[in-house]
Parts: sequence; C-alpha cells; structure tokens
Amino acid sequence: MGKKNAFLDNVLGRRCVLVFVTKGRKMPNLQESNRKNMDVSDSKNSSYEQKADAQDVVSLVDDLLKKAVKSGASDVHFEPTGAELAVKFRLDGVLSTVETLPRSLSDNVIARLKVLGGLLTYRNDIPQEGRIEISRTQDDLIMDQRLAVFPTIHGQRAVVRLFYKNIELTELAQLGFSKHTYTALKKIAAKNQGVLLLTGPAGSGKSTTLAALLRHILKSFAGRSVVTLEDPVEIRIDGVTQVQITPHGQMTFPLGLRSLLRQDPQVLMIGEIRDAETARIAIEAGLTGHLLMSTMHSGSPAGAFLRLLEMGIEPYQVTSSVSAVLNQRLVRKLCTRCKRTEPRTSVRGKDRGQTAAFEAVGCDDCFSTGYKGRVLIAEMVQLDSQLRKAVLAKADLDELERILENKGHTNMLADGKRLVGDGITTQAELNTVCGIVSDDS
Ligand SMILES: [Zn+2]
Repeated sequence: MGKKNAFLDNVLGRRCVLVFVTKGRKMPNLQESNRKNMDVSDSKNSSYEQKADAQDVVSLVDDLLKKAVKSGASDVHFEPTGAELAVKFRLDGVLSTVETLPRSLSDNVIARLKVLGGLLTYRNDIPQEGRIEISRTQDDLIMDQRLAVFPTIHGQRAVVRLFYKNIELTELAQLGFSKHTYTALKKIAAKNQGVLLLTGPAGSGKSTTLAALLRHILKSFAGRSVVTLEDPVEIRIDGVTQVQITPHGQMTFPLGLRSLLRQDPQVLMIGEIRDAETARIAIEAGLTGHLLMSTMHSGSPAGAFLRLLEMGIEPYQVTSSVSAVLNQRLVRKLCTRCKRTEPRTSVRGKDRGQTAAFEAVGCDDCFSTGYKGRVLIAEMVQLDSQLRKAVLAKADLDELERILENKGHTNMLADGKRLVGDGITTQAELNTVCGIVSDDS
C-alpha cells in the first residue's frame, strides 16, 4: 500500500506542479488558502472553483478530514451531483454542505480517498470499504476512520465515518435529564433487581445513557459485578466485563445470557432485546435477583409493555419485573455564539406571552446551522397500581396511553419544552425530532 500511496501522491502532486510551472506562478501556501476557503460555507461561490487548476488534491482532502475532526462531524460525505462534488459534514445528526468542489476535481478527490483507505483505485464500478490511517496529529482525538465508496450515475460517492475517543464518557448528571427522571434513574440503579428498558430509534443516545448508568453503578456501589452483552460493543467501560455477541456465529444473545447468569452477575446490560427467547431470559433474570438493563424497539414506553406481551411474556411477569421504560431522543442545542431572541411577532398561538424564545441564526462556529451539540429529551414510565392492573388485563395501546394522559404524564414533547423555555433549543427542532408537523405556518 505504501508504494501505491507514494505513486498516486506523485501523480497528483506532479499534476499540480506542472500546472504551476506552465502558468509560471509561484506556488501559494495551499494549506493556508484551503483553510480560508473552508470557512466559507456558502457553497455556490466556492473559491475552489477559481483555483481548480491549481488545486493540491492531497492537501485538500487532508484539510477537509482534519476540519471534520475539529468540528466533531460524525461523517463526511463526498457526493457527486453531475455538475459538482458536494462535501457534507454530519454535525449533530444533520448533514450540512460545507464545500462544493468543481466536478473536474471529483475523480482526483475520490482517488485520493481510495488511496488513503487502501482501496483499489482502478475499480470504479463496485462498492468498496476500507479504513483510513489516523495521522499522528489526530491520534488522541480519533479512534477509527472508515471509508465507503460506491458508484452512482454521477460518479463515485464516498463516505468517511469518524469514530472519536472518549466522546461518550458523559456522567449521568450531565446527560440533560429532567430532575424527576434523573432521580428516578438513580433509584432504579440502586435496586438489586428489576428490568429497565430504553426505547428510541437508532442514534437517539441509548448506548450513551446505558454507559452512563453503568458507570454510575460502579462508582456508587463499588464491588457490584457488572456484565454486558453487546452487538457490537460501542463504548468501553472500565471495570465492566463486556462481551461481544456474534449474531451469525456461536455467541448469540440467549446463549451468552444463559451462560452468564450461571456466573451470577449482579448487574447485566443486554444491547438489545430482539427476540422472544432473549426477552424471556431477560425478564426471568430481572425477577431473580439481577438488575437488568436493555434497549427495545418501540414507538412509546407504553408500546414496550405490549411488545413484551407479544413476545410471549406473561402479563404478571411484565408487571412484576419491569421497573421502568425510558424513551429518549436527541435534540440539537442552539449555538451559543449566534442564537438570538426570536422577534415577538413570530411567536404565535399559545406560546405568546411566555418567556422569549431563541431562534437559530448560524455562524462560522456552527457551520451556519445555528445549532451545536445535542442534548437528551426523555419520558419515563414506571408502573403504578393502575397501569399494572391495565397491563394484567391486557389493555391495548390506546387504553394505556389514555391512563398516562389522565395521570398527567410528562411526554417527550413536554420534556422538550423545558429546553425551549431555557433557550437551549428551539420549538422547530423539537417538532422535527418528535415528528410533529407545526400548524403555525
Ligand atoms: Zn453559530
């Protein structure tokens, strides 16, 4: 690979040098000019366009990747559109265009990425995946950089996924839970048995919450044996025995779980309850002196109870084992540098007369998105006698939701209002995350 790397570096490098020589110009400080250009997120008038011929592709790609790491992007997309090559960063879960490169650079940029990822540069017709070596300057920030390239009708598209070190080492108290939820979670973590279920779509921060809970348990109750079964292990936690599940191999969730239970751990975390067998063993573990935490696919907390019943768990087992269901999402936080108070005229309906809300503006710091960083919103359901009775009577989802509503349950949207009120996020962001179509407009 080293040889190939040097070869392409040479080819790309010489190409640039030749251009400079023929134009009879002095080689500008490309590193510097790239950085300046990249601060301009207005894609239409990219200054790369004018400098297309003089572009040093190697340093261009390097700079883009460095910039992605610096901004904390989770991935970088290089998308050919026919006329251009759009470079997008995923920041806080949302893709934003940070640069638009001329089409003429597209092939060279993708070729450079392929060299970095150790892929076959001459194959443009198949999807390929690889790993990009981490430069020494980024050693302490980045854990892994993965590259995927695939052909489209406009040319090859590349995505670099960035995995950061220690980014998930957040304390339970820092996750942004309301005081009520935070206190309830700490109480559950102090228990010797029971089941805590987390629900929410992929990318809603469930792994971060589970890791924070396990760290909290290790710190507060030293000496408890904590074991996890995960697919894959996403966050390493010191002091916890973490086991990687191989879904298509020998080590499955039910097998690992049964075997681990014989070693009698006190706290167990299972990455996900996907099937009836795992659900059954997990619920039994929660009933027999183990504190068990896991995630589950369900649209709402009430739905999680019903899902367990559908998986063949007896209603009395559900009501006596499940301590709580926590449903969570991540919302983007307003960029503190550029957020501004919303003009009063734009505040309508029942929100009028409340404390002034803030709106997203956009600056260099936040790549013109107006948002930077994310915070949790959550709703938690613990079974009381009324809900217990309803589950035992096999009530349907509507019935369970109605009971919760009558009890004045704080749902996710209501929890999010607290953040809007504090000027941490916007109503628009909250609506998007909660899947609500605003009737304001
Ligand atoms: Zn900003």
